[in-house]
Order: sequence, then C-alpha cells, then structure tokens
Amino acid sequence: MEIIPLSDGELRIPATGLLSRDLPPEFTDESGLMPVNFGGFLVRTPDHTVVVDTGIGGGALPELPIGTFPERLRAAGVAPGDVDTVIFTHLHFDHVGWATDGESVFFENATHHAHAIDWAYWVGPDPHPETGPGRDDFGAIPAPERLAPLADSIVLHEDERTEIVPGVTLRHAPGHSPGHCVIDVRQDGERAVILADAAHNPAQLLAADYTCVVDVDPGLARATREQLAEELTDSGALITMTHHGGNRLGRLVSDGRCRRWVPA
Ligand SMILES: [Zn+2]
Repeated sequence: MEIIPLSDGELRIPATGLLSRDLPPEFTDESGLMPVNFGGFLVRTPDHTVVVDTGIGGGALPELPIGTFPERLRAAGVAPGDVDTVIFTHLHFDHVGWATDGESVFFENATHHAHAIDWAYWVGPDPHPETGPGRDDFGAIPAPERLAPLADSIVLHEDERTEIVPGVTLRHAPGHSPGHCVIDVRQDGERAVILADAAHNPAQLLAADYTCVVDVDPGLARATREQLAEELTDSGALITMTHHGGNRLGRLVSDGRCRRWVPA
C-alpha cells in the first residue's frame, strides 16, 4: 500500500490561532509560525484507489495559496475517474471541498463513505451550522450544500470500526467533530494511521494540555487524542495528520519518561 499526501495548500499562522498555547520551536518555522496544511490523502491498495478527504475545494479566496488538490492528484498519476473509493474522516468544510462543486460529483466513479454520526450532525435533516473560524475566510460553501449531490449515494457507517476496502478501516475517534474518524491502514503486519484532525500538530500528541479552537467537544477530543497517542506510542505505526505542515509522517516513541515524535 502507498499513502500519498494530496495537499490543497498550506498557510502559516500563529499557533494560538488554532491551539490553546504556543508550539515548541521544533514544530514552528523560523519566524515562530505554525505551518498548517489543508488537503487529503491518496491511499493505493493492491485493488483499490482510495481518496481520504478532499481539501477546501474550488472557490477558495483567490489571494490564498489554496486549490492545489487536483494537481497533486494528477501528479500522483491518478485521474478523478480512477478513484473508486472516497472516505471522509469528518464533514468540516476543509475535508469535503473538492468532493463536489455543489452540483456535480468530482470523483464520479467512486463510492463515498462517512460516519453516520457526522452526517446527521452536519448535513441533516436538522444540521448544525459550522461556526468555527475559517469557513467564510476560505469562501467555502456549507456542508449541506456541498454534499447535496452525494446525499442519495453516500454510504454511512454506524460502527466503531468499518473496513471500507481490505486493509483500510474507518474508525470512530470523536471529539473534533461528533462523527470524526481516523483511518487505519494495515498490510502484512505494517500499519499507518491517518489521524485526520484528531491532532492538528504532533506536539498535541506529546502533551495532553493542548486544546484546539475548532474541536466541537474539546474535552472528548483531548481524551480521544490521548488514547490514540498512548496506543500508537512504540507501536511502530506510521502516523500522519491532515493539518501538520508538509504532511510529514512520523512515529511516536517513548524513552520511558516522555513521548517523542520521530519524523519518518
Ligand atoms: Zn480540518
């Protein structure tokens, strides 16, 4: 299997625009800013071409360096029609963007998947408005409009874990949003985990006291994050997350006293 980041663009912001406190210097750029990526991932399995999340989408404000998802997909040698499976980790605007333009479906041959709890919360029949910072800034349309073209065809999952295609499992990891999921990828004893927005930066996996302004339930998000960090430490699993600048993969290791992030 192969996991290829499909960045839709990257911004640099003060960490406290997103997190409850500053980041250690190893996670900032030279001016102390936090690189924040947007986008999704391509997961190639022996039999399937899977896209996990679809970035912010077309229509983002032209002055922002956003909108590179389709060319990253092309650079990976994949046409939209080649993708047979799209999995949404959750339905925030910055994870469903390219899925549709509000009228037609971008990955026309794909089956789309999400957790039923997130669909019920964000799309309908009585959707919660997305009030966190960002959506208006990016000129993104609300989830119910964005996802309307998929309403009749999307496959919604209710279980804690669902294997979507062999080796690729959607796993409920709530808090960032009620139906937020991580993606567990396994093949031949090797494992990678796409944490999506269970953490926005590796520093959140090293210290439990970070909260994030865009977590719907910060307490639950923190408990989920801590549980995942504990499970993944010294497991050998490769870890990546949507918003970590550069989408770099890494591993969590422990020296007995504290946890460290080791870039892979
Ligand atoms: Zn996000």
